Amino acid sequence: MKGESAMRLILLGAPGAGKGTQAEILSALLGIPTISTGNILRAAMSEGTPVGLKAKEYVEAGRLVPDDVIIGIIRERLAKEDCANGYILDGVPRTIPQAEAMEAMGIAIDKALSIEVDDETIVERMSGRRTCTNCSRTYHIINNPPKEEGKCDFCGADLGIRKDDMPETVKARLETYHRDTEPLKAFYAERGKLLKVENQPSIEATTAEIRKSLGI
Ligand code: AMP
Repeated sequence: MKGESAMRLILLGAPGAGKGTQAEILSALLGIPTISTGNILRAAMSEGTPVGLKAKEYVEAGRLVPDDVIIGIIRERLAKEDCANGYILDGVPRTIPQAEAMEAMGIAIDKALSIEVDDETIVERMSGRRTCTNCSRTYHIINNPPKEEGKCDFCGADLGIRKDDMPETVKARLETYHRDTEPLKAFYAERGKLLKVENQPSIEATTAEIRKSLGI
């Protein structure tokens, strides 16, 4: 599949729906980068850049970072050479204004794929999520454990719990998702680009559903 026609894909879904995990798998499969605004913001926060300083209070409270900050990040990132043959957007757009701004910038999207998971499953999942403190890869203590407890399989760094994966913050993030992000499904459905995939019991089964839905 590598090197075939460009695929510009948006992954939609609640926090913890598995967007990041599936994005990594699809990236490897299609040979295109994943762009995660969450990862970009976390890197900016740990480096203490101006964007990071601005984003911190929002991210830690489980609120959305202002649209203008996100639009700036996306404009810069998608202009890079590695995006020329397509990309997977993980966690962006997250609001209708972000989607409109992307359209206005001429960012073409082929498909917006929504991973559908109920809130109860999300809350269960987030409590077991562990994130690499270095490369941001995610694990789950039961469903997707690292080979060595507490260590990233890829880079060997320590795994940690994201501050915004704490239970109270997860609730706030779910509310934000339903209010601000879920309307994007109708936005992309109107444009004939929406695909929906039901979450499956395993990562592999969800990937299989996604591949079927995308025809890859
Ligand atoms: P994520 O890793 O995608 O769950 O993102 C973590 C946090 O980063 C979110 O809860 C928001 O605070 C912020 N964030 C990431 N992407 C966006 C976006 N597109 N718009 C606004 N805030 C975002």
